[in-house]
Amino acid sequence: MFKKILIANRGEIALRIQRACREMGIRAVMVYSEADRETKYVKLADEAVCIGPAPSAQSYLSMPAIISAAEVTDSQAIHPGYGFLSENADFAERVEKSGFAFIGPSPESIRLMGDKVSAKQAMIRAGVPCVPGSEGELPDNPVEVRRVARAIGYPVIIKAAGGGGGRGMRVVHTEAALINAVQTTKAEAQAAFGNGAVYMEKFLQNPRHIEIQVMADTFRNAVYLGERDCSMQRRHQKIIEEAPAPGILRKLIERIGDRCVAACKKMGYRGAGTFEFLYENGEFYFIEMNTRVQVEHPVTELITGVDIVKTQIMVAAGEKLPFTQRQIGIRGHAIECRINAEDPYNFLPSPGRITMWHPPGGPGVRVDSHVYTNYFVPPNYDSMIGKLIVHGDTREMAMARMRTALAETLVEGINTNIPLHRDLMVDAKFMAGGTNIHYLEEWLAQHRH
Ligand code: ADP
Repeated sequence: MFKKILIANRGEIALRIQRACREMGIRAVMVYSEADRETKYVKLADEAVCIGPAPSAQSYLSMPAIISAAEVTDSQAIHPGYGFLSENADFAERVEKSGFAFIGPSPESIRLMGDKVSAKQAMIRAGVPCVPGSEGELPDNPVEVRRVARAIGYPVIIKAAGGGGGRGMRVVHTEAALINAVQTTKAEAQAAFGNGAVYMEKFLQNPRHIEIQVMADTFRNAVYLGERDCSMQRRHQKIIEEAPAPGILRKLIERIGDRCVAACKKMGYRGAGTFEFLYENGEFYFIEMNTRVQVEHPVTELITGVDIVKTQIMVAAGEKLPFTQRQIGIRGHAIECRINAEDPYNFLPSPGRITMWHPPGGPGVRVDSHVYTNYFVPPNYDSMIGKLIVHGDTREMAMARMRTALAETLVEGINTNIPLHRDLMVDAKFMAGGTNIHYLEEWLAQHRH
């Protein structure tokens, strides 16, 4: 096992990884930007290295700064967390070429899945069902683009091969709007991702977002850890996640889970990964794979008892998966609310000093957050300041726990989206389960404050 790991991230996930290291007897090296210098989780680290000023481009995204921090601290491995460099194949490659273990899949797997066109083609080869769409990248010829769209049937969605984070997508309802939309998406994709390739998919009208968590080792063992329902989204950003997905037959989950496991084995995938699907009328349609730990991993940890971060570290160190598929059971129900420093209704970011932080507690309540009273939320990064995760024997029990936990939580000095979560946890349709990916936006439109 590693003796020392460098954590190339910040915030709650940096603390989450640090905790896993502690439990495993591994020394944790934290890198930080000047904006994060005074944080408690940096002070708690065994060692900490400043890697640059607040802007991510000069710190958390700086490959040379991170790799030299690993060198000067004699770290053996680098955990990239999520976001930042976690899905950057060039980074993974440089980490490995510099003699460190990358806690994640091989650069080849990251590259294959990082391009959504090649990812989809790999899934089709592995027998994973995909959204009907263009065969690979869209051609330039408008006549052919129209033909592809007609074959798929409107509405269609134009998506950037290099897109991510909910950006680089455009829905098209009519042929008249098609060519313009393709050209605009291409230009935006070129500017935002340095890759102008786009592809086309059928735009599903009322799908749910269901994803399968997988874990694989270097001995071609792969296991899926059930599913998560992440349909509560605004602008393609998840805000509530839960597991299991309400109302979906276990045998459907098992079938798709087995396909994901088979795809992992075929690719020689290693580490944690998530296959994201849209689910409509009893069918799963692959949309993309994330080759890293996800924000919402705790709901899976609570229902399976598997520590995903520790398992990532174990398989990166060359150990075998400590469980088989048959040993994975699903117990109870878990829900996660992402706590963001933002206005709950107009979503304007709300950085600044937290003058009071009082997290909830009690049975079945987990708080993953790096903040505390007097913590300053820097304006430079993502607005998520923590996650509230609850577990209960049933979905009703979990929801009751979440309502209690949200009622106990006190955050002063900044705005947070906690009031929105409180409203949603008493919403009749959400409580009934199975709302689709448009539900939250429709709800927001009806509840304009
Ligand atoms: P990103 O990498 O930017 O997150 P995804 O491909 O995962 O992009 O899609 C993000 C979200 O966009 C999905 O969760 C869903 O809400 C919506 N979406 C993507 N593709 C489709 C589609 N074919 N039909 C309907 N909605 C879609």
